[in-house]
Amino acid sequence: ESKRRGRNNFSFYTQAFTTEATLRLQMETLLRRAVEHSEFTLHYQPMVRLSDRKVIALEALVRLNTAGQHTAGTLGGSVTLSPNQFIPVMEDTGMITSLSEWVIEEACRQGRAWLDAGLDFGRVAINLSPSEIRRGGVVERLAEILVRTGLPPQHLEIEITEGGLMESGMGAEQFLQHLHQLGVFLTIDDFGTGYSSLAYLKRFPVQQLKIDRSFVQDLPSNDNDGQLVSTMISMAHGLRLHVVAEGVEMPDQEAFLSSLGCDVAQGYLYSRPVPAAQISQMLTRH
Ligand code: C2E
Ligand code: MG
Ligand code: MG
Ligand code: MG
Repeated sequence: ESKRRGRNNFSFYTQAFTTEATLRLQMETLLRRAVEHSEFTLHYQPMVRLSDRKVIALEALVRLNTAGQHTAGTLGGSVTLSPNQFIPVMEDTGMITSLSEWVIEEACRQGRAWLDAGLDFGRVAINLSPSEIRRGGVVERLAEILVRTGLPPQHLEIEITEGGLMESGMGAEQFLQHLHQLGVFLTIDDFGTGYSSLAYLKRFPVQQLKIDRSFVQDLPSNDNDGQLVSTMISMAHGLRLHVVAEGVEMPDQEAFLSSLGCDVAQGYLYSRPVPAAQISQMLTRH
């Protein structure tokens, strides 16, 4: 009896593994086609200055067009892949380089278009993947795209996760120095989730920390999170860095963050990530 159950378990795991491998392969095929046929779009989510609720930056977040997803078997149709699902696959396969090049170019082109329309958006922010940083060439590509699109570098913000910087190893400091020399604004994303020493904060030429949503979601009732967020904000200000809180959904979270002197907030309370056309209405004219 136990022997039989063992065998059944074994075949169960084999089957589960095969299914997973098949899904993974289908996802890769779908993504490869999406890259070839440019089936991605960017949505933008505002970051809002807490003192006056002015939009001071827009984060570009990539979306996979659902139309393209019908092309790949069981993955198509009913499910929509989120960046948290497809970005890791694109990192592993190297597709991230072409995706990212498109993201940077599209965000800069859109930023230039908003400038030309006299709309005050502050900065457009893009996310960079650790694997892309390791592969190299990002700074050169960025510099070239800024020139080609005509977006002044002070209107571009780069978000890099804390974990991403540690993963990119000894080269991280130099990498950030090069970005800094381009004149772009640098933010450490998902701050607080890294496992690293904080010593890097005084060496890296970053301007802003973005507190991870996991510390924000249970505010203001969770005292531990309240303490942590309060400490992160004082520390950031001590180092003359700006602080953004991500994932702000409720007015009482906003009030709590404001009372601690947090500079900027982002989250569903203000807006979900939306297509560029919807963003124009939220911006003031010069
Ligand atoms: P992230 O950069 O930390 O972005 C924040 C994520 O939280 C976004 O998810 C955003 O839609 C979501 N979010 C914003 N406000 C709220 C809120 O109030 N409540 C909740 N529950 N969620 C909120 P999204 O767009 O699914 O992106 C997930 C992650 O995928 C991003 O995390 C980023 O790491 C990555 N990503 C997205 N676009 C790109 C891209 O163009 N390039 C790269 N390399 N990574 C990207
Ligand atoms: Mg981000
Ligand atoms: Mg984040
Ligand atoms: Mg994140």
